[in-house]
Amino acid sequence: MTTPRSTPPNHLPLDYETTTEPRYAQEVAQNHDLQHVKGDDYVIVYTCPRCGAAQEDPLFEPGFRAARAANAPAGARPAAAASANVLLPMSCHCMGTHDARPEGRSGCGAYWTVELS
Ligand SMILES: [Zn+2]
Ligand SMILES: [Zn+2]
Repeated sequence: MTTPRSTPPNHLPLDYETTTEPRYAQEVAQNHDLQHVKGDDYVIVYTCPRCGAAQEDPLFEPGFRAARAANAPAGARPAAAASANVLLPMSCHCMGTHDARPEGRSGCGAYWTVELS
């Protein structure tokens, strides 16, 4: 079974701008891979919805781990895990070129919050 990836990496050298749009969260929510690293460590692999850079972020969110555990067999399930979706604040951190990017920053300035279930 393969996961279709809609678009190949195709980086847009937009000017850096701290910005968000509703579509950023929608696009990442609909088009990402969750990869299991080990134990309860996961990474989310996605494409920046603004500049198109391929990226991955580690998931350290305790809530995400609880939500994953909720899908585990009964008995391994923490009582508080219930049905929570996890809101994951994200931002672009590509190493591509974006003019006007502040010193020491990475990414294109896009940020959003994706909901994982
Ligand atoms: Zn970029
Ligand atoms: Zn970006």
